[in-house]
Amino acid sequence: MKVYFLGTGTSQGIPVIGSDHPVCHSQDQKDKRLRVSIWVEWDNNSFVIDCGPDFRQQMLTSGCSKIDAILFTHEHSDHTTGLDDIRPFFFKQGNIPIYGHERVLKNLKKRFDYIFETENKYPGSPGVFPIEVENNVLIESHSKKIIPINAMHGDLQVFGYRFDNFAYLTDVKTIETTEINKLKNLDVLVINALREDAHNTHFNLQEALGFINIVQPKKAYLTHISHTFGFHEEIQKKLPENVFLAYDNLIINI
Ligand SMILES: [Zn+2]
Ligand SMILES: [Zn+2]
Repeated sequence: MKVYFLGTGTSQGIPVIGSDHPVCHSQDQKDKRLRVSIWVEWDNNSFVIDCGPDFRQQMLTSGCSKIDAILFTHEHSDHTTGLDDIRPFFFKQGNIPIYGHERVLKNLKKRFDYIFETENKYPGSPGVFPIEVENNVLIESHSKKIIPINAMHGDLQVFGYRFDNFAYLTDVKTIETTEINKLKNLDVLVINALREDAHNTHFNLQEALGFINIVQPKKAYLTHISHTFGFHEEIQKKLPENVFLAYDNLIINI
């Protein structure tokens, strides 16, 4: 299984528009972060998690030419507003399966009503095949059994996803023990860590490291990074030896 980090930034991305912050002016490519998303590939199957405003650029940069499904974590704009740009995939492949919580699918239907239209559809509009994700129900697709992981993003429910010994969770602030128990024996865990300072709806560094300590994956990668966290190189130096700061276009093989 190959995991490609399409984006590792928080909602505004890095650089932030018009920002004077030194991280936003860094010359290090690892300090340039598009909105969070990953591309997971195995045996010629291709799944993307989330589809934010940088989706088009991410597909061009990564060379992704086929999408078998998009899994949504939640409905926030930084995770969903690229949906119209699935058009080139739709033209080649037909309706694209999209997975999400019932609430997330409803929200997408409201925001992208024309995509969900079945009659009198505007020619050129993309199409999707929505599939509801329920907690404690496996997603069996393309020879994989994907386990949804339920977590809370402040008051909002979010899903993470486990593929074999790899799990991806973002926008988590709290998570129940029953869900943590679904994360045993991981080779790789990806988890959000916004910055060092506390935040109401996202793990900060300390909370993310505490979570990693409980889950005990072989390796962990941090994502959904704010410019206020600091420079990539300096943050990496502060991390335990099996914890890495993810960066855009990083590829890991599992
Ligand atoms: Zn987010
Ligand atoms: Zn969010």
